[in-house]
Amino acid sequence: MGRKFIVGGNWKCNGTNEEVKKIVATLNQGEVPSEDVVEVVISPPFVFLPLVKSLLRSDFHVAAQNCWVKKGGAFTGEISGEMLVNLGIPWVILGHSERRALLGESNEFVGDKVAYALSQGLKVIACVGETLEQREAGSTMDVVAAQTKAIADKINDWTNVVIAYEPVWAIGTGKVATPAQAQEVHADLRKWFQANVSAEVAESIRIMYGGSVSGANCKELAAKPDVDGFLVGGASLKPEFIDIIKSAT
Ligand code: PEP
Repeated sequence: MGRKFIVGGNWKCNGTNEEVKKIVATLNQGEVPSEDVVEVVISPPFVFLPLVKSLLRSDFHVAAQNCWVKKGGAFTGEISGEMLVNLGIPWVILGHSERRALLGESNEFVGDKVAYALSQGLKVIACVGETLEQREAGSTMDVVAAQTKAIADKINDWTNVVIAYEPVWAIGTGKVATPAQAQEVHADLRKWFQANVSAEVAESIRIMYGGSVSGANCKELAAKPDVDGFLVGGASLKPEFIDIIKSAT
C-alpha cells in the first residue's frame, strides 16, 4: 500500500483569537483533495487548540506543538499527553529544532517524549534535521540518524509516527532544500530504517519535508518519490497553505 501524503501546518507561537478564526475560515473554504488522498494536520499554539478543534472542518485534524515527557503533575507550565487526549487532540509535534536549539531538548529527551506520547495513544510528528555547519561538515546523515536512533531506542511500533525531515538552515529562512537534497536525505533515512528497524517500517513510514515550503516550491518537492508530505511553518498561516495541500496530487 502506498504512503498517504500528509501536510502539517505548524503555526508556532503566532496568532490572536481573531487571526485564528480568520485562518480557520480560509482553511474551511479551501478546495482540497479528499482525506483518502491527503491527511491535513493543523498545529496551533496550545491555548487555541480547543477553538481550532471546534471550528475546523472535520476532514482536517489538530496537533499540539509539544507535550511533556511523562505523566502530568508538578511540572509548572507543561502540558501532558493525557491532557491532549482528554481534549480529543490526536496529534503532537515533537523534537522541533526550535525546541532542540532554544530549550535544549536532547535526542534522548525527544525519544522519551515520543515514547510517552505514543503510549497515551497520540500520533507523533517527530522532527529531525541538521544545522548548516553540520551539513557543511558532511555529517547530515550522522546527525539525522542519531536523532532517529534515539527514538528507535525507546519505541517498537512506528505505526503512529511520521518523521519530519527539517534541515535547520531551511527553517524560516526562505532557503528551501532543493528537491534533490530533500530526496537524498529521505532516501537515506529510509535506508537507515531498513538497516536498523525493519524493511516494513522503511517502506511504510512517512517522511515529510519541512523548511521554507511555499505554494511556489511545493510541487517540485512533492514529485520526489520519498517525500511523503510537508511540515509547513510560515506559509501555513497564509492562504497558499491550500496550494501546498493540493500538491498531494
Ligand atoms: C517549521 O517550523 O516546521 C518550518 C518548516 O517552518 P518554515 O516553513 O517557516 O520554514
